[in-house]
Amino acid sequence: MDGFLGAAYALHHVAALVSLSERQDLGRAVGDAGGTWFATVDGKGRGSAKSLTGEEVAVTDRRFAPTLFLYDNYPGGIGLTAPLYDLRKELITRTRDLVSACGCKLGCPACVGPILASDEVRGYSPKQASLTVLQLLDSAD
Ligand SMILES: [Zn+2]
Repeated sequence: MDGFLGAAYALHHVAALVSLSERQDLGRAVGDAGGTWFATVDGKGRGSAKSLTGEEVAVTDRRFAPTLFLYDNYPGGIGLTAPLYDLRKELITRTRDLVSACGCKLGCPACVGPILASDEVRGYSPKQASLTVLQLLDSAD
């Protein structure tokens, strides 16, 4: 989950740059392809899954189809997402380049988003998890 949330964070920033828009013009979400839940980052920096009604849910099915959504953040849309979909390969490549080139070791707000102090202590790398997800996205399609 951390890999998807980190990849979404980085893709969101690159998508705003590529589409010449503000970051808040686009929304992002990670969820199941079936639309039964989505993940957000809570105030403590950890991803949690919620139902469509906003209730916290436990994701117990390891076979879920993780899906990363970038969407137009305006009701009815202002035409940002169709061009981004057409540029998805470039978007993923540029995002992989951004994360790979970042000078941090485990992840930071300049690439995959803030990481927890506990991740630093145990050497867990949200950055590497995000790069793995981006690599899988790059090889798909
Ligand atoms: Zn970084």
